[in-house]
Amino acid sequence: MKKNGSRLVVGLLVASALAAAYVLGRSGDSAAVAQTTPTGAVDDRDVYYPGTEELAPDEMRVVALGTGMPSPRPKQAAACFLVELGNGDKFIFDIGAGCHERLAAQKIPYDYIDKVFFGHLHVDHMGDLPTFWLGGTTMNRLTPLRIWGPSGGTPELGTAHAMDLMEQMYAWDIGTRSGVIDFRGGVLEVHEFPFDGVNEVIFEENGVVIRSIPAVHGLDGAVSFILEWNGLKFVYGSDTVPNKWFAEFARGADIAIHECFLPPTLLVTKQGFSPLEALTVGTQGHTAPEQFGKLMSIVEPRLAVGYHFFNDFDTEPEVRERVRKTYDGPLSLATDYMVWNVTRDDITIRMSAIDEEIWPSPPIRDKIPPDFQDVVSFSEFTLSGVLAFPEIVVPIYEEVNEIYGTDFEPGLN
Ligand SMILES: [Zn+2]
Ligand SMILES: [Zn+2]
Repeated sequence: MKKNGSRLVVGLLVASALAAAYVLGRSGDSAAVAQTTPTGAVDDRDVYYPGTEELAPDEMRVVALGTGMPSPRPKQAAACFLVELGNGDKFIFDIGAGCHERLAAQKIPYDYIDKVFFGHLHVDHMGDLPTFWLGGTTMNRLTPLRIWGPSGGTPELGTAHAMDLMEQMYAWDIGTRSGVIDFRGGVLEVHEFPFDGVNEVIFEENGVVIRSIPAVHGLDGAVSFILEWNGLKFVYGSDTVPNKWFAEFARGADIAIHECFLPPTLLVTKQGFSPLEALTVGTQGHTAPEQFGKLMSIVEPRLAVGYHFFNDFDTEPEVRERVRKTYDGPLSLATDYMVWNVTRDDITIRMSAIDEEIWPSPPIRDKIPPDFQDVVSFSEFTLSGVLAFPEIVVPIYEEVNEIYGTDFEPGLN
């Protein structure tokens, strides 16, 4: 498929086909893959294996880590897209419920995924922040987590207030960790920016510029993002009905991601909505496939990506058909683990393999030993319940002390 002189390599696989491809690739079935020698590695893969490919200095990789509806399901988490750049920078756009495990599956050290941008504060766009934030401290993130999110119509509806309350909400969790583990990764660095800024710069570092434009969704306080780097332009709508700002400022995007909700008919038949609910939610609160197509016909991106619907064998054809009523350009209808490699010449579309036995990467920095003075102690009541089993625990300490040349004794003090 050719468009504007660029090659679009389409390697679209549904999840079941992905599993099959993964198995075939691993089994060494030479009929399934092209190999130049019987013993050599396959050099032109149609599946992305996280952690195995270097990004070229001029390349952008976008990974869909959440593409579904507000409630996550095994196949699709709620909204989350990861952008990785050839300069080493990585950005998370929305971090909806269920996406954290998909993020972990990318095999990226947590120190490198320290920047999160919220389009708005719906739970399906921020629900996995607590697990990523606090869970990240045990996944070896030793740098503060940096958050960018919009203001709201009032201070209480803005990102800064939400993050402040989140820290209060997790006081017990933080209490269990302080003084016990290196907690540098538990520090939040929050940047709230005006939701009504029109193409205003909210981030500029290392040759990367990110701007926000207003979105129309829910309440005042929803935005879309435009990331530009190295002559490449990534646009992420988060949630919004079609709006004039997206139509104007997303133009010229190399990859433009925008919600493409289930059509009202499927909301009725599959979700049990009443016709009026379906029309209101599907076209006034969200963007129906025909609306998505119309908007992309105006924006004319090198690749349009629709997301935010349950993408199955019996829904994708109808969504695609409806989009095609109003848009005939390059199109991906996203599902989780879809991967786009973007350069000025190519956009390659693949599915990512899933490693269900992923472990966190070792820490990049030296860990700072915790200061046990900061431990929040138990009451005498709770301590009275401990069965210490010294005959069991002391030998465990002795074993570790012998291996590592240390001199520790049981107990936190
Ligand atoms: Zn929303
Ligand atoms: Zn949403």
